[in-house]
Amino acid sequence: MYSTNQAMLYKHHVHDGQPYIFYIDIRSGGKGYEEFVERAQKEDGVIYIRGKVSKLYRDNGKVKVVGVDTIANKTVEIDADLVVLAMAMVPTPGTKALANTLKIQVGENGFLKEAHPKLRPLESITAGYYLAGCAQGPKDIPDVVSQASGTASKVVSLFSGEYLQLEPTIATVDEELCSACRICISVCPYKAREFDEEKGIAIVNEALCESCGSCVAACPSGASSQRNLTDKQISSMATSILKESENKDS
Ligand code: SF4
Ligand code: SF4
Repeated sequence: MYSTNQAMLYKHHVHDGQPYIFYIDIRSGGKGYEEFVERAQKEDGVIYIRGKVSKLYRDNGKVKVVGVDTIANKTVEIDADLVVLAMAMVPTPGTKALANTLKIQVGENGFLKEAHPKLRPLESITAGYYLAGCAQGPKDIPDVVSQASGTASKVVSLFSGEYLQLEPTIATVDEELCSACRICISVCPYKAREFDEEKGIAIVNEALCESCGSCVAACPSGASSQRNLTDKQISSMATSILKESENKDS
C-alpha cells in the first residue's frame, strides 16, 4: 500500500512523470484499500506490472529496468529516472531482547506476539503487558490508532476494578511436602516464585503467576500443584476423553 501512496505522491509533484510498480501480490486488505489502488491506476495513471525486475543498468543517464510482465507474458523495458525498492518492514533490532526481558513472545517474523489472535489480540502472554502498533507487525495509521485505543481501554479496565482478577489455575504449594530445594524458583519464567525464609518453604506470588505449570512439572516432592488442575482432575479429564473416543469408535 505504501508503494501506491508513494507513486501517487510522485505523480502529484511530477505531473508529466510516469510511475510504474512491479508487484507479485498487491496486499490491499482493508476498508477502502482496493478503491485506493484503483484510484491510483485510474486517476493518477500508475501502471502496475505483475512480475519481477530481472536487471537494472545505467543507459544514457537513465536507469534501464528490465523485467517481465507475467500477465501479458512479455519482457518489459523501462527507462527510469529513479528506481525505488519497496522494503519490507522488519522489527526494531532490540525487539527480541525486550521480549526476553518482559517474558513475552515473538512471532516467526520477529514481531511481538499477542496471547491469542482472536480472543486476546491486545494482550501479551504476560499479565500487564499489552501490544499496540507496529511492534506487533506492519500496520497502517488507522489500524494503529484503533489498536492503541483498545489497548488503552484494557489498561484502564485493569485499574478500574477493586480487585485484580487472577487465573483460576495459579500455582500453590503444599507446605507439608515442600523440601525447600528451590527448583521451582529457578524454573519459574515469570519470577512468581520466592523463598519464605521464615517458613523455610517456597511460596507463590499469586499476582505474578501465569499458570504455566513449569514449577509443578519440576517439583521433585510433589509439593507444587495448580489450583483446579490437580493430577486427579487431569487424569479424570484424560479418562473421560479416552472413553468418549472409544464410544465414537465402537
Ligand atoms: S520445587 Fe517443590 S519442593 Fe522444591 S522448593 Fe519448590 S515447592 Fe518446594
Ligand atoms: S505456574 Fe508457572 S508462573 Fe506460576 S509459579 Fe509456577 S512456574 Fe511460575
